Amino acid sequence: MEQEVSVARAQQLLEPALNILRTVFGYEDFRGAQAEIILELIQGRSALVLMPTGGGKSLCYQIPSLLRPGVGIVISPLIALMQDQVDALRAAGVRAGFINSSLSNDDYQSVMRSLRRGELDLLYLAPERLNQAGTLELLAGLQIALFAIDEAHCVSQWGHDFRADYLLLSILHQRFPTIPRIALTATADAATREEIINRLELQDARHFVTGFDRPNIQYRITQKRNPRQQLLEFLRREHSGDAGIIYCLSRKKTEETAFWLEQQGFTALPYHAGLSSADRLRHQQRFLREDGVIVVATIAFGMGIDKPDVRFIVHLDLPKSIESYYQETGRAGRDGEPATAWMVYGLQDVIKLRQMMDESQGNEQFKRLERIRLDAMLGLCEITSCRRQSLRQYFGEEAPDRCDNCDACLNPAPTWDGTVAAQKALSCVYRTGQRFGVAYLIEVLSGLESERVLQNGHHNLSTFGIGRELDKSQWQSVFRQLVARGFLGVDHNSFGGLYLTARARPVLRGEETMRLREDVQEVTAKGTRQRNTDSGMLPEDRRLFEALRLCRKHLAEQFDVPPYVIFHDATLLDMVHLRPLNAQQLLSVNGVGQGKLAKYGDAFLRIINEHELDLV
Ligand code: ADP
Ligand code: ZN
Repeated sequence: MEQEVSVARAQQLLEPALNILRTVFGYEDFRGAQAEIILELIQGRSALVLMPTGGGKSLCYQIPSLLRPGVGIVISPLIALMQDQVDALRAAGVRAGFINSSLSNDDYQSVMRSLRRGELDLLYLAPERLNQAGTLELLAGLQIALFAIDEAHCVSQWGHDFRADYLLLSILHQRFPTIPRIALTATADAATREEIINRLELQDARHFVTGFDRPNIQYRITQKRNPRQQLLEFLRREHSGDAGIIYCLSRKKTEETAFWLEQQGFTALPYHAGLSSADRLRHQQRFLREDGVIVVATIAFGMGIDKPDVRFIVHLDLPKSIESYYQETGRAGRDGEPATAWMVYGLQDVIKLRQMMDESQGNEQFKRLERIRLDAMLGLCEITSCRRQSLRQYFGEEAPDRCDNCDACLNPAPTWDGTVAAQKALSCVYRTGQRFGVAYLIEVLSGLESERVLQNGHHNLSTFGIGRELDKSQWQSVFRQLVARGFLGVDHNSFGGLYLTARARPVLRGEETMRLREDVQEVTAKGTRQRNTDSGMLPEDRRLFEALRLCRKHLAEQFDVPPYVIFHDATLLDMVHLRPLNAQQLLSVNGVGQGKLAKYGDAFLRIINEHELDLV
């Protein structure tokens, strides 16, 4: 009975929220935990929200900000995106503004005026502002609906996106203990999660941890052979004309890769911390506003990139942890349409990262944690079972054995009994004194009487020439797997010299068998899902879709916003589907609310009506 009463009460409380969802944002129903989270906030309680990218976190604080008296304050480190976020809200008719260092004095004064008059529903605020004298007084003088702390993992010193400014956020719960706070993030392993809770004092808040799966992203990890050629094939076959991000480890490589892609006919721009801030901003803007731009970047790019139609993420170098990998790949396909996370990796990546980690500064505990994280990442690369299952389990989720949308499911790599090969490799490392790199070890195993082998007298070793049954690339594969799985360590004082770890002993003694993966040439993954914008569209639908896109492009230029601020692809596709001919019908299209109807409705209706006339 009590249960029923509370359900009825919850529905009653949610009624106005649902109304806003439909009329302002143009969506029919809440997704996942959105309703519960909103319910929590409108009742004045705080919440911690862990939701994957594209899960719909923004609405969780936007709607309560509209419902509660006062202005919702959104703390976000993504200064470059505030303008677009605010534009998108205004397009939907929400009274929003932002304060960060990019604001001109006039604009700043105008935001302040609106704030004081209570004319804003949402204010985006850069975290460093909390350090400035005026800001706290300003906040103290306002009626505040809630505080939303976006990208909350930035508060974690263990994490990879730590921002010192985020430590200032403790001011919020100390100074404003009665205002509800909502902390949101898409990445958080258990340790980071704990740190968020402690630093932001969210022990008593309800925690909403929703599934981390991104079913529309296809995960693929393949062996590095000729990375540029492999990349070119991947882009031409699967993503020509699409927007995407290519991650590399070094600044130099981002520049060289972007330059090379330009020569191959792509629009590709480099992005790294060494560029001037003007160049960085310009490249980011082009990525956001033009269609089909590729950004080749170091990890400096992309935090919170809100572009919904990023169709692919490429890793040309191995990320340092699964957290980084998942966050970076998570920037693909926010709109729910098919997207690809594609990575090439090889022996050199493993050796380089292992060395970097050993040399890195920091105390032993930090290094140990880094090593554990790298091991998990390497494990993901080498598994032959479903990648998605492994990713989800890493984040503490249950997952079925197969996802049918990763390379391991679509194009399984065969395994072979590599016990004897592993023994030969390990004992060759041992006999040569645990100080040589892979290339040399392979010479010895293959019985190559090279100058250096002869010089070292290693042609007399018992392991000389015992590995002729495998070719060079097969041996490289064996060594890669042995290093990746921690049977061999990499000496950072020599040039990639390998040594045996404690784990090697049982293998050498024949107490442990070992299955290795056979490196298969990547075929275009079978069953690669076609984007529904490309395939299965009738010619007249395609014509209409293109006309709607053109209309969107013109409006975007006119209002000086990215095209997706007007409407997402998914909304245009829905228009093609439903063919609305009047305002009422247009409202039933997903993503069309009252605000956008008033602003853009006529333009799109005109196109659809003209198109229908053409058909008769
Ligand atoms: P996140 O911040 O979690 O990455 P967003 O808040 O940007 O995700 O939302 C991702 C996409 O999903 C956006 O295009 C948003 O408009 C859409 N979306 C969010 N909630 C809903 C909903 N209830 N129904 C339909 N679309 C939604
Ligand atoms: Zn799978």
